[in-house]
Amino acid sequence: MKNNQTKYDVIIGAGFSGLAAALRLKPYKLKVLILEADDDIGGRSWNKVLDDGTIVELGGQWVGWQHQRMLSFINKYKLQKYTTPPFPEGKTLFQYNGKIIDEFPEEAMLLVNNFDNLTKEIDLEKPWMHPNAKLWDNITFEHWLEMQDATVDAKKMVGRIIAGGLLSRDTSHISMLQALFYVASNAGFDVATSSEKGAQHYRVIGGSYKIARKMVGDLKGTDIILNEPVTVINYDQECATVLSMNNNVYQGKYLIIAIPPVLASKIHYHPSLGSQYYGLLQNFPGGDALKVHFVYERLFWIEDNNSGNVYLQEGWLTEVTDNTTPSDPHAILTGFIYGKPEM
Ligand SMILES: Cc1cc2nc3c(=O)[nH]c(=O)nc-3n(C[C@H](O)[C@H](O)[C@H](O)COP(=O)(O)OP(=O)(O)OC[C@H]3O[C@@H](n4cnc5c(N)ncnc54)[C@H](O)[C@@H]3O)c2cc1C
Repeated sequence: MKNNQTKYDVIIGAGFSGLAAALRLKPYKLKVLILEADDDIGGRSWNKVLDDGTIVELGGQWVGWQHQRMLSFINKYKLQKYTTPPFPEGKTLFQYNGKIIDEFPEEAMLLVNNFDNLTKEIDLEKPWMHPNAKLWDNITFEHWLEMQDATVDAKKMVGRIIAGGLLSRDTSHISMLQALFYVASNAGFDVATSSEKGAQHYRVIGGSYKIARKMVGDLKGTDIILNEPVTVINYDQECATVLSMNNNVYQGKYLIIAIPPVLASKIHYHPSLGSQYYGLLQNFPGGDALKVHFVYERLFWIEDNNSGNVYLQEGWLTEVTDNTTPSDPHAILTGFIYGKPEM
């Protein structure tokens, strides 16, 4: 076991959250250490560069119109961005009731409106205070859909878009309260699912990973150690002692754990965090999503006056979107796979 003699003021994880936390601490001239399990910074923002230079983003890529903190980093670092989709005038297609149509089906829209009206009642600071919070927390989103007076097709479509498209989960894996809270925190269904003025408004040319790289460039004086997964945290009133999988030991006066809750639950804490808090971390699952890129020579969908955006009701892919970066040589459609192939 190697004991790092340096005493840090704060030790944190990496990814956008950890890097942003480190930047917030910069004015205080503290000795900050970032420990990162992976061999690179950036966490769930990750580029793959194809042989011809086309960049596909394997993780988080869209920056919403309302994502003010992310936008402030993009502006600060003078990164180029573009609005999506790249060719907005084309039609969006929907696979619905065995047919391909080019308008959001009215019966599904009615169901969305019923759901959206409920999201307006949610207090984002205290979602548990809603008079129906307990009831909604005790039923799954699937259960709520089943209870609605709507066609099976409408339920299937709305379920796949809200649970799959937005929360990367199956309708049976999220509570109704979670679905409402998530959509409410995105200012409603329309904003959550839209490109223009919605959560998918911008992409950064070169990928969101570029933001993380620039953040690191701004962190001169902060130690960053890669390939250093934290496995044990011993803490008391005075300091935290952190052990890594490589048997290294670090000490800091404070600790910020900027990793997904389910991964934070894999760390051994002494003293224990207590069953309630630990249970919360363990029961905070990430989404089950696969992001798939299809690379083409040309934008064939534009020739048919389509936008490249498709919502599918059957099969593994739930939605496909045009993910072509105007500056890249290739045309790209990106699809998402969540939950079950059919719901
Ligand atoms: C496929 C996909 C698509 C997405 N699309 C979008 C999108 O378009 N728009 C959007 O806003 N969001 C999107 N997201 C979500 C977005 O990427 C994340 O919310 C964001 O990157 C989370 O950043 P973070 O710093 O909180 O966590 P992370 O990025 O997960 O960073 C945590 C870091 O901690 C490290 N770590 C984990 N455990 C340990 C340990 N024990 N010790 C040390 N280090 C550890 C990890 O390696 C990682 O680098 C997407 C996510 C995925 C996976």
